[in-house]
Amino acid sequence: MKIIADNVSVYYGKHKALEDISFDVSSGEIVSLVGPNGSGKSTMIKCMAQIHKPSKGKIYLDDRDISKISLKEVARLIGYVPQNFHYLFFSTVMETVLLGRKPHITWSISPRDLEIVQNALNDMGISDLAGKFMDQLSGGQKQKVHIARALAQEPKLFLFDEPTSNLDLKHQMEVLEITSRLAKEEGSSLIIALHDLNLAFNYSDRVVMLRGGKIFAQGKPGDVLTPENIKEVYDVDTLQIKSDYGTHIVPIKTNGRQKA
Ligand code: ADP
Ligand code: MG
Repeated sequence: MKIIADNVSVYYGKHKALEDISFDVSSGEIVSLVGPNGSGKSTMIKCMAQIHKPSKGKIYLDDRDISKISLKEVARLIGYVPQNFHYLFFSTVMETVLLGRKPHITWSISPRDLEIVQNALNDMGISDLAGKFMDQLSGGQKQKVHIARALAQEPKLFLFDEPTSNLDLKHQMEVLEITSRLAKEEGSSLIIALHDLNLAFNYSDRVVMLRGGKIFAQGKPGDVLTPENIKEVYDVDTLQIKSDYGTHIVPIKTNGRQKA
């Protein structure tokens, strides 16, 4: 599914959180949103999930104005994993992931629904947690449950807001590996707000870099995540190191020394 942000601006009262944002994501494409805290990543994702309405501009899903699509249909089309999620204390992992099937269930839960839920639990490597209550899990485990819920939803568009922030290194890579593979296999689009520039570099087709609510740069990871742009946007010096395994962005402490 193609999603287009067309000149989107968002105000919170007088505060302008996003200004004239335009970009699009095609079927099967993975696009990362990067930028420092407060640059507008979550606000952008919430607009695309139809949680916020842009103050100006429009969002289109396959050329349809998203504000004209019913919430029920949006729930079938879009799998959103928020940055801060609230969970139901008294529901189990299984029940939480089953919620992902809700937009599809017409009368009662079918064996097919249960199979999809089981696959999502397996994909996230959390089948053994199925019977546990949500408040018995670690932050990282909860995050995986919410991603599994989004997978079970089988949406056309995934919106993940910092989905790996509570995970350790191995699980960060695992989650991105699996979700990007599934997105490609199913031809779903994936928009993902990421702090980790290495993950953004290595898992996305394109990167949209925000600064102060505006697009600073967008394009291929190698064109956007340059040491110059990173310095400009994050005020951090980095080295870009290439190896047989890909490109690695390494923050460096220069202590004011200039490059030799
Ligand atoms: P990011 O996800 O990149 O950290 P956000 O989209 O959360 O950025 O925030 C962008 C800007 O909008 C920030 O300046 C933030 O303080 C402000 N903001 C976010 N949510 C609200 C809100 N509900 N009310 C008022 N201001 C908000
Ligand atoms: Mg955020």
